Amino acid sequence: MTPPTPPSWKLSTALAAALGAGAVLGWLVGGHAAAGIALVAVAEVVLLLTRIRHQARAMMAAPTAASPLQHDRFMTRSRRIASSLRDLRNAAGQLPDAVVLLDQQQNIRWFNHAAESLLGLHRPDDRGASLQQQLAGSELAGWLRDGAREPLTDAVAPGRADGRLNVSLLPFGDHEQLLLAHDISHLSRLEQVRRDFVANVSHELRTPLTVIHGYLELLDPEDVPELAPVLGEMRTQSKRMGQIVEDLLTLSRLETQHEVADERVPMAALLATVRKEAEALSQGRHRIVLESTAEADLLGSPKDLHSALSNLASNAVRYTPAGGSITIRWQRVADGAVYSVTDTGFGIPASHLARLTERFYRVSSSRSRESGGTGLGLSIVKHVLNLHQAQLKIESAPGIGSTFSCHFGSARLLVPGGGDES
Ligand code: ADP
Repeated sequence: MTPPTPPSWKLSTALAAALGAGAVLGWLVGGHAAAGIALVAVAEVVLLLTRIRHQARAMMAAPTAASPLQHDRFMTRSRRIASSLRDLRNAAGQLPDAVVLLDQQQNIRWFNHAAESLLGLHRPDDRGASLQQQLAGSELAGWLRDGAREPLTDAVAPGRADGRLNVSLLPFGDHEQLLLAHDISHLSRLEQVRRDFVANVSHELRTPLTVIHGYLELLDPEDVPELAPVLGEMRTQSKRMGQIVEDLLTLSRLETQHEVADERVPMAALLATVRKEAEALSQGRHRIVLESTAEADLLGSPKDLHSALSNLASNAVRYTPAGGSITIRWQRVADGAVYSVTDTGFGIPASHLARLTERFYRVSSSRSRESGGTGLGLSIVKHVLNLHQAQLKIESAPGIGSTFSCHFGSARLLVPGGGDES
């Protein structure tokens, strides 16, 4: 006796459950539930098509052997699968994220409605066309041409000048690929509002703070000895607020900047200045050593590089107890040069390392404040390095010390006093 045919609701429920699981997975992995749904939906479509093909093959292989009952079962199943396929295609078609299925040559096999508005694709003309050609002139076309290895986190939507997209290209099936574009226009606008707000507040605070600081400087503690400690504290705090405002303004400028002016930065002079500043801050409490063997200048913004490199040296001084030593190095490596600052200070527990470059993130707030920190230094360093296509690496062991290294690529190196370097 043949087993009973599974009721159609079982298949639909299984497909819906898989879509739900895809949503949860997409959300957990990348924060985009729609991307997970899209992936599962397309996978289900392929699965159902394969099932239909297998069944049809089985029927064709033994057409005479198939009884009318088997034929009916086959037809019922095929209808059910076709209906599930339609549902899935409609669901994928209505997703808010753009989904494009590409063949081995990156020609368009299928796309949903969101791909029309976000990527500017047209139905039915663009089916079978090369995606790169359809997106020609856009940031996305260049990204596809370069292999699209990493997701494109923030790109202009080719179909909407004011839209922003987060795009990824995933391998799919045997040789196909799936392009997913998540609309982040709303997030982008919010981010812009946040940036403007911080920049405006900092700017508005700058003048009143300068006035307060100026008057505090005018007051002589000797005229009012009973207020001397209060005046001293007020001066320290107004100076700290002034420094926070200046750092916030620097960060706002760096965040909106996409590239730096390519000027020669003479490293011998810069390293000497960084060392002198560190010595002034240390006031003889530390042994400060400079080892410069790279014989290379940098190409970039002298002001920003000075700020970043001296920030690392001043942190080393501030987070190393008296008697410790600090080594500033500028060395060649295979694919560029590395600036590093090693200290024998307090060190940082591993659990904090990943978050150190966030604004106002501190391992110990009291230690940072006591040493005159604003909590914005490493954030500035990270932005400056990004603008110079350099990477920050932090190695640290509590109680032993830390090394902060900045890796600059060969393209940023120049022969001191001479021409370009390869
Ligand atoms: P801050 O102004 O507080 O120093 P930063 O952004 O420069 O702000 O640094 C963030 C935090 O990283 C600091 O508060 C401190 O806890 C930690 N840190 C930075 N440099 C060092 C270092 N060389 N040794 C130990 N801790 C450090």
